Amino acid sequence: MKISFHGADHDVTGSCHLVDCGDRRILVDCGLFQGGRELDEENSEPFGFDPAALDVVLLTHAHLDHCGRLPLLVKQGFRGEIVTTAASRELARLVLIDAAHLHEEEARYRRHKAPPSGRASGEPLYTLLDAFHSLDYFGRVASYRQPLDLLAGVRVTFLDAGHILGSAGLLLELEENGRRRRVLFSGDIGNAGRPLLNDPVSVETDVAVMETTYGGRRHKSLAESVEELYRALIETLRRGGNLIIPTFALERAQELLYFLREGQAQGRLPGSLRVFLDSPMAISATEIFERHPEGYNDRMKDLFRSGRDPFGLPGLEFTRDLADSKAINNIPGGAVIMAGSGMCTGGRVRHHLHNNLGNPQASVLFVGYAARGTLARLIIEGAPRVRLFGDEVPVRAQVHTIGGFSAHADHAELLTWHGRTHAELTILVHGEDEAMKAVAAQIERGRVLMPKMNETVEL
Ligand code: ZN
Repeated sequence: MKISFHGADHDVTGSCHLVDCGDRRILVDCGLFQGGRELDEENSEPFGFDPAALDVVLLTHAHLDHCGRLPLLVKQGFRGEIVTTAASRELARLVLIDAAHLHEEEARYRRHKAPPSGRASGEPLYTLLDAFHSLDYFGRVASYRQPLDLLAGVRVTFLDAGHILGSAGLLLELEENGRRRRVLFSGDIGNAGRPLLNDPVSVETDVAVMETTYGGRRHKSLAESVEELYRALIETLRRGGNLIIPTFALERAQELLYFLREGQAQGRLPGSLRVFLDSPMAISATEIFERHPEGYNDRMKDLFRSGRDPFGLPGLEFTRDLADSKAINNIPGGAVIMAGSGMCTGGRVRHHLHNNLGNPQASVLFVGYAARGTLARLIIEGAPRVRLFGDEVPVRAQVHTIGGFSAHADHAELLTWHGRTHAELTILVHGEDEAMKAVAAQIERGRVLMPKMNETVEL
């Protein structure tokens, strides 16, 4: 038995881990590398294994850095079964179709822009058709805490990860020639005590493969973060500017809607507040969230059952159409504008930043992880000006970073998750170097490994 690592090794994107158990091959996640041009090229490089030889792909959750190379996998010969939860299946469908659309658009742009001798390829990484084709391979649906016999000698149990709707950690129980090993994949670990989801669960295992995104860092509490959100919003309204929130379409957008609604219900925020969800992707995701109450914690299930919409604000406007999105440009102040992408690498938020960054009355509020090299990271790190659509835009708006809304566990919570595993071997993935080392330094039990790309570990 062995595991080999083909992404998110000393980095946070491209999750892809291969388990070999005798002649059975199980892939855990097949994510896209994200964050810069070199990574774009990395996506089109060979996987490091034969996709046609895989039996099963297990998907921990629907974020692009965990599912985004599935269409490539199918294109290169995968004919097995993709297994995940019902909510992840619907969200992955949305995420993959959106990604394919973006790849096609970028390729069109490159064909148009690149000089004839240019290196840039005019081919998209994958097309909409490739994405649709990959959806045909989604097979059995997993439920939390119910073991599923995947293949002879391979059983999996999906466990709550508390990260986004449908997200899971995976306990694999493997058997080869009478020898048994348990391997627990953390997927992305969420925070305990979230408003929508159950707390992350970990169980005893022999081997733990664990994410380390926020290793060495501490989040503020959720309660403090909600206070900061309300304070930033009220101050921005008082100054007469807009509050721009670059938003991840899955989970953060819905959680923010939930807290804005709570703020109004408690009389903390004005009832007349105008809120724009300017992201077709986040709008579709919100609809999927409303279709999957089984993924929520009991409090939210009750809210749904009582017929109340946890995301329904009176002043909320969904802007799917581009024309409606452009109309937001005419609003000088007093609005909350939530738009993708969360790291500001693309999407409509770039237009809103272009319009509002130079305005000292406006605010920009970051609520999630910002990878190196992204526009979000530049602004958070205090760049005095940034380039947008060919213009130099000074950063005069107030910039807030609120860590407590992160979908990822912080250092202490990672160690809490790990403590329950009693693992004799811990393999750290999905983190930048410093983050991984910070976590490794505090794991007292068993061996700790930090594999490099394409490295294999015997179990
Ligand atoms: Zn994730």
